[in-house]
Amino acid sequence: MENKRPKPRRRRRKEFRCHCCKQEKPFCWNCTCGFQICPECFEENKWGMSNGPTWICPDCERVHMME
Ligand SMILES: [Zn+2]
Ligand SMILES: [Zn+2]
Repeated sequence: MENKRPKPRRRRRKEFRCHCCKQEKPFCWNCTCGFQICPECFEENKWGMSNGPTWICPDCERVHMME
């Protein structure tokens, strides 16, 4: 029996893509609706998205805790 084939293990790197600057980032704030925003863009939009310890997704208006 020849069952030695290594399983193809293609792990997709989990990367983020900011919806504002369209760039791939090691980290983005993200929403369950799929919206992602990098910390840089977030800073720029903070006045419109964040309310202290929370931020609000501009797409679906879900409220998220900042961690
Ligand atoms: Zn960005
Ligand atoms: Zn959302």
